[in-house]
Amino acid sequence: MLVDTIVAGAGLWGCTVARRLAEAGRHVLVLEKRKAVGGNCRCRTEKGIEVHLYGSHIFHTSNEEVWKFVNRFVSFNDYRHSVLANRRGKIYHLPIGCTLLKEFFGRALKPSELTEVDRTALFDAFIRGYTSKQWGVSPEDVDPSVIARLKVRDTFSTDYFDDPHQGIPAEGYNELFRRMLDHPNIRVKCNAPFVLQSAKSLTCPVYYSGPIDQLFGSRLGHLPWRTLRFETEHLPRRDFQGATVVNYSDASVPYTRIHEFRHYHPEKAGAFAKPQGTIITREYSSAWKPGDEQYYPIDNAASRELLAKYRQLVDSFNAEAASSGGKLIVGGRLGEYRYYDMDKSIAAALAVEI
Ligand code: UDP
Repeated sequence: MLVDTIVAGAGLWGCTVARRLAEAGRHVLVLEKRKAVGGNCRCRTEKGIEVHLYGSHIFHTSNEEVWKFVNRFVSFNDYRHSVLANRRGKIYHLPIGCTLLKEFFGRALKPSELTEVDRTALFDAFIRGYTSKQWGVSPEDVDPSVIARLKVRDTFSTDYFDDPHQGIPAEGYNELFRRMLDHPNIRVKCNAPFVLQSAKSLTCPVYYSGPIDQLFGSRLGHLPWRTLRFETEHLPRRDFQGATVVNYSDASVPYTRIHEFRHYHPEKAGAFAKPQGTIITREYSSAWKPGDEQYYPIDNAASRELLAKYRQLVDSFNAEAASSGGKLIVGGRLGEYRYYDMDKSIAAALAVEI
């Protein structure tokens, strides 16, 4: 196969773009720096349990086009996400809604009925500690859009997300990626980081979804990130917490949450009923340093300014590369430096001009 297009990075954005290019008749080489494709959705099946290697990934979307696209490759189970919070050893049902208010205040209340004092108490109980662990700063210094991701409900619903379409690929996340890339016009090379050469030597389009600063050797400085560390444990019991995710609200607990992956596949509950153990992962958040995995971009004035400078570098590179047929198209969570849900990353890839 004579390659005419390169896709660098095989996460959701890269694989969606690669598939679209292949179906448009292009001959695509997918280069993936890691040893396997799938980005942070990558999983490993252990003892029949699909372990999400980079923390829980729950597919949820209101975007019909995205939903149709992913359903071309895999089917989804009926899992609907809900999250518990452990505060001082007591369990509450997130998000903040009538259920949690009843549990916390001991009486039926709607969020609209809360006084300022109530709101502060709730914030201190469920947001302050968690957010300071997650972001390393006090919640007042976190962009409000981050905390606003957490829905407020005026009903007893404990659904974490509003989206009509939710689920986990029944065949597993790895299979989603394998099938997206399974096309005669796509060749995949893993352990193959993309290295940007001079503009003149670039003779074909490159769709790049790695970190935008690393594309240029971070020559203007590193974009700041939060990184995560996962501690995974096999336990010789059927069930550890009876839920996929329990958030630990207290600043005194060093981890932010515990994931228990077997609960993502309720359709396999029969098989899990056999005593084969369970697998849990404790998630710890910390400041990123070069060499760490990038998880959450830190949105502030300084990072936005630095990002704009890297985007200018892409534009100047493209102006120079145009004469030799080269072009850099930068996208995805790492390329755009965006806090992307999975569906948003696919939607962005479906909108890329090819
Ligand atoms: N958050 C919180 N307490 C919680 C859950 C979330 O304070 O129990 C805040 C926290 O700042 C977090 C943000 O809300 O970063 C978004 O939460 P989400 O569950 O969407 O985080 P993600 O799963 O994307 O890490």
